[in-house]
Amino acid sequence: MSEYNLNDENFGTRDKRGHWKPFGTIAINPPKSIFFNPIKLIKYFFKFPGIFFPWTFVFGLITVLTYLFLTPSLETMKTFEIGWIAFIFFRNAAIILVWTGIFHMRLKNQGTSFKYNPRPLEENNPTFLFNNQTKDNLFYTFCSAIPLWTAYEVITFWAFANQIIPYVSWEIYPIYCCFLFFLVPFIRDAHFYLTHRLLHWAPLYRIAHKVHHRNTNTGAWSGMSMHPIEHILYFSGILIHWIIPSHPLVAMYHVFHAGLAPTPGHTGYEKMTFKNGVTIPTGDYMHYIHHKYFECNYSGGNTSFLDKLMGTFHDGSEEATKEVMARIKDKAHYL
Ligand SMILES: [Zn+2]
Ligand SMILES: [Zn+2]
Repeated sequence: MSEYNLNDENFGTRDKRGHWKPFGTIAINPPKSIFFNPIKLIKYFFKFPGIFFPWTFVFGLITVLTYLFLTPSLETMKTFEIGWIAFIFFRNAAIILVWTGIFHMRLKNQGTSFKYNPRPLEENNPTFLFNNQTKDNLFYTFCSAIPLWTAYEVITFWAFANQIIPYVSWEIYPIYCCFLFFLVPFIRDAHFYLTHRLLHWAPLYRIAHKVHHRNTNTGAWSGMSMHPIEHILYFSGILIHWIIPSHPLVAMYHVFHAGLAPTPGHTGYEKMTFKNGVTIPTGDYMHYIHHKYFECNYSGGNTSFLDKLMGTFHDGSEEATKEVMARIKDKAHYL
């Protein structure tokens, strides 16, 4: 254990096989208590860690900086040209290389402290391309995720530049644009739930979603390791900006949020620890359970009420595991 690590036993329990889980059960979000209590409502949105901090804020900041300093002008993007398209492709690839690379490398040094599954990532397993989970995940990220993310982004910029889709000026309608920007994570939650349920339809699961689910013990690079069909569905949320009046920055935030969020959602570590007991949340235990048991927790953590509503919620307890094991038995054809 390095000098940076807190004792994870003060935050959760480890079973006989060494699997760690946080204390308590997973919350149903949004909680009912916030609806008639403005103080609780504000706290729910702005607490740390919470809906906006740290990650939603960081995704927004990276998007704004990239739009201001690393995005060609709409004038340039009026016609498809290899120069600016390649620039956006390599820009996105570089951002993900640095972003996900930092999580991967930093958490590797943390050992098993706060790690849900004590096993290291697979290095000699024929389930994965090159028999290596990390190399496999890198392949799907850079050869499928980044090209398809870039394609959606490039075509959308081109459509804005040529006024094929409804453009709203940030200068003339700042409140509307800010509101839409703020709404993006919530639109993404709804879109993610619907497409994820669709991907668990057995034929689509077998063709596409199985690629992502080979990662039962996930790592930072597993987040965007998906089949191209899944990437087409996953990034398609940006198409809402083809229908509702929007701004290129807001549309770009949609795919950037989709591109950046899976990293902290798949690290497999509840927290990243630093000196003096400082930590940042890097885990999504609810989604980890989805990777472990498949037939539960299809929604993102902020909309876990959807799983509760549909009878597919796994709150992390032993009883919930028994229930889901019975469901998996009935659907063995998935696996
Ligand atoms: Zn799934
Ligand atoms: Zn996943």
